[in-house]
Amino acid sequence: MERVLVTLAERNPLVMSVETLGTRSGPFVINADEAFIATLTDEELEAAIAHELGHVWIYTHHPYQQSERSANDVALRVISRAALEPVYAKVWKRTGIKGNLAEYIGDGPDGQ
Ligand SMILES: [Zn+2]
Repeated sequence: MERVLVTLAERNPLVMSVETLGTRSGPFVINADEAFIATLTDEELEAAIAHELGHVWIYTHHPYQQSERSANDVALRVISRAALEPVYAKVWKRTGIKGNLAEYIGDGPDGQ
């Protein structure tokens, strides 16, 4: 069982991020931009947290290769693609930097 702390920031330029306080085994801290979180529905917030926990999973599993796609592959075990997509739309609107949904989640409804 990993220790994961959640903190809110007045401003996080990444809107949401996760880091380890120590080694690969944590403890981990998920940091979220308070104003951004306020724009999410409950379902979207769940998807966003699942995504960050996906990063935590990668930290603790070989080959420890972090990517948005890998974090989403883990997240999609527990949340739906439909919940994740609007989160990205809101992240991109807030940061002004648009990413590639097909690259991050995959093309199809099955996330492939
Ligand atoms: Zn991520």
